Amino acid sequence: MREGNQIVLTTYGRSSGFCIDPIEKKPLNHFYPGSSVLSFGTAGCNLACKFCQNWDISKSKDMDQLMDQASPVTIAIAAEQNGCKSVAFTYNDPVIFAEYAMDTADACHARDIKTVAVTAGYIHEAARRDFFSKMDAANVDLKAFTEDFYFKLTGSQLQPVLDTLVYLKHETDVWFEITTLLIPGKNDSDEEITAMCQWIMQQLGPDVPLHFSAFHPDYKMPDIPQTPATTLVRARDIALHAGLHYVYTGNVHHIEGDTTFCPDCHAPLIVRDWYHINEYRLTPDGHCPDCNSLIAGRFDSTQGHFGRQRIPIAINRVRA
Ligand code: SF4
Repeated sequence: MREGNQIVLTTYGRSSGFCIDPIEKKPLNHFYPGSSVLSFGTAGCNLACKFCQNWDISKSKDMDQLMDQASPVTIAIAAEQNGCKSVAFTYNDPVIFAEYAMDTADACHARDIKTVAVTAGYIHEAARRDFFSKMDAANVDLKAFTEDFYFKLTGSQLQPVLDTLVYLKHETDVWFEITTLLIPGKNDSDEEITAMCQWIMQQLGPDVPLHFSAFHPDYKMPDIPQTPATTLVRARDIALHAGLHYVYTGNVHHIEGDTTFCPDCHAPLIVRDWYHINEYRLTPDGHCPDCNSLIAGRFDSTQGHFGRQRIPIAINRVRA
């Protein structure tokens, strides 16, 4: 914010809280499956989504929301001491706390902890280069496929988000997956979903995982009904038909939509149920055991076993 004639960082070193989550909750299904991730955010956001499901922190201008104070090194140590594979910058968009996130990423990398950005991808190209140079993985929201939706319902624009996705694919090694929250009557038509999936195929290729997740009434859209599971299944069918290899459904119980299938022989390889891995069949070097196809992603030689827990932690009790 502006103080006097200077821009100052008012949220650096302060967080709205820390939690250990399954990596599948970010959601990332191809980034060290079954591992745990230490997650935190700050306050405020650079978008103004009328459907924001974290609006209590993303819309907050009240620094009292920021209860936990933690230096970048303290966060990295907390992740290490709790056996987390990665640290995620999430809940609100890390673009607005980029300096804090980037310093934390440096501290994490010094301890062999990976870093994850959960972001709307709405960022200027110069800042984008600096920010993503510190990230190992990202989940990027592609909230819709029309400028009208972005303008009216998020206060931002579609094209810069598409630019970020193309940048990540063609100019970085960041592993990234895409999430689209389907909102009844707003972005869930066959035509819009088809156009979006065709764009992903043409610009990013078939191996970028796509997650369709269910809206529930929130913030300034309390009158729109919850997304039915049938909408997510329909969207997944459209995406698979367009040629995408890894398409998932989120916020609903749908084992097929939670499962990673081999894109060549179609064998189920990672069977999940609500962040829990029921079956894991990838070879130690990330291939299908049946046809030897390489599965896109970042994998350890064995799966993690964190399960579907969510563990809040008091970061101020962490000691170096
Ligand atoms: S980008 Fe995410 S956190 Fe920010 S307002 Fe939109 S939904 Fe909320």
